[in-house]
Amino acid sequence: MIGAGPVGLMLTALLQSLDGVSVRLYEKRRDYTRTRMVQLASYLVADSVESYCVDSLDADSIEAVFDPPELDEGLAFRQSIPTDLMALLRDWSLGFCPLNSIERSISDLIDSRVSNAGQRVAAVQRTAAVVSADDAMAMLEPEDILIDCTGSNSLLRDHLTPGWAGVNGGANTLKIRLEYALVITFLYGQQYDCNEYCKYYKNSENARYKFIPMVQRTHYDGSVSHVSGIVNITAEDYESMPPRFDGEWLRSNRPGVAESMDRFLDKIRQETQGEIIGDLEVVRIPLDLYRARNATSRRWRAAGPSDHPFTRSPVFLAGDSAIGSPYFQSISLGFECAMYMAGLISQRDMPVAEMLDRYELFMYKQWLRVYMRSKMIKHNKDLFECIDDPFALLDKLHIY
Ligand SMILES: Cc1cc2nc3c(=O)[nH]c(=O)nc-3n(C[C@H](O)[C@H](O)[C@H](O)COP(=O)(O)OP(=O)(O)OC[C@H]3O[C@@H](n4cnc5c(N)ncnc54)[C@H](O)[C@@H]3O)c2cc1C
Repeated sequence: MIGAGPVGLMLTALLQSLDGVSVRLYEKRRDYTRTRMVQLASYLVADSVESYCVDSLDADSIEAVFDPPELDEGLAFRQSIPTDLMALLRDWSLGFCPLNSIERSISDLIDSRVSNAGQRVAAVQRTAAVVSADDAMAMLEPEDILIDCTGSNSLLRDHLTPGWAGVNGGANTLKIRLEYALVITFLYGQQYDCNEYCKYYKNSENARYKFIPMVQRTHYDGSVSHVSGIVNITAEDYESMPPRFDGEWLRSNRPGVAESMDRFLDKIRQETQGEIIGDLEVVRIPLDLYRARNATSRRWRAAGPSDHPFTRSPVFLAGDSAIGSPYFQSISLGFECAMYMAGLISQRDMPVAEMLDRYELFMYKQWLRVYMRSKMIKHNKDLFECIDDPFALLDKLHIY
């Protein structure tokens, strides 16, 4: 396993409880420092088809894309997840929490299981190293499965197809840029809940730069509300901004966006008489939706015998290295892939070719699901941006 971000760690923790599996986990970072707040979807801990399809943006697509036995298989796998890991998942899916606390908790769980005498777990050998594609190929031994969890700049995505490696950078990636956005996060000293009416009302004087909190990303922990949302910006804005900055930078350099935020915040204050704690945290990001056209090495196997290690050993992409999506859904999708992959590996008598085919099909279905969900969110956002301008709104409505 290369990459011990949230998905590599989750997969390691799942494989650790399987008989006859040992894991070598490589990670280049020495510590988990990413403090951004993230949200996990409740479908990760669903125990029925109804609770799996609880998200109204997703429910119809899930039933259209997945057959009932596939949904049942996913739910059955969840039942087999060890209780220590399931307890963490349940906890995270309630609110939202720092990314590094998810990473540290799974990482500590993996280490504590190893040292916990009496518990029967697979060996996990952890190595701090930057692994290159050549290193990964050189270290592959018969019976090994190589899993790339190295995130959006995947180490192996462009090496999965014969003839493409190093020649056509990005040829194995289908990418759709949906928009550029500022992700703005702040703390508020009172309870603040958001819904679609609230988004509209609080932006009513913002013709441009509407701040759109994500409903599930407003979280009250008993004394403070954590709020995170996005503001659409142009490509030119994006190019001319630093990667991250605070409210002061915003006021001095982008007064239009800052005024829009101030109007939104004033309305929150009028409603609940609270105060913003500290400053705004702002990150600029391109919101990309992408997939690896091939999420496994099956094309190497289909190309016939050769010296290339990928013709002998199966390779899989998991997490952001396989599929990336905006609008705060990627980790959940990555965890879903990890569960499916662990389920495949647990079926020790499954032929490798079948494993590769099944994973490709599953990833394609996950792609369809997240593609439809993301396009729907983007479309709804586009309509919302011009909701008070009937002509602009009608231009965006292709009714029939
Ligand atoms: C501002 C922001 C907010 C977000 N909010 C949410 C949210 O609310 N909910 C959500 O689901 N998602 C959210 N995301 C997305 C989420 O952070 C990613 O989907 C998630 O981190 C992907 O996990 P991963 O394990 O696949 O990859 P990564 O987190 O990118 O981890 C990859 C790991 O591989 C290691 N690595 C890379 N290359 C090598 C190498 N060559 N050798 C060794 N190690 C290597 C890296 O050091 C890293 O630890 C957000 C993203 C951003 C930018």
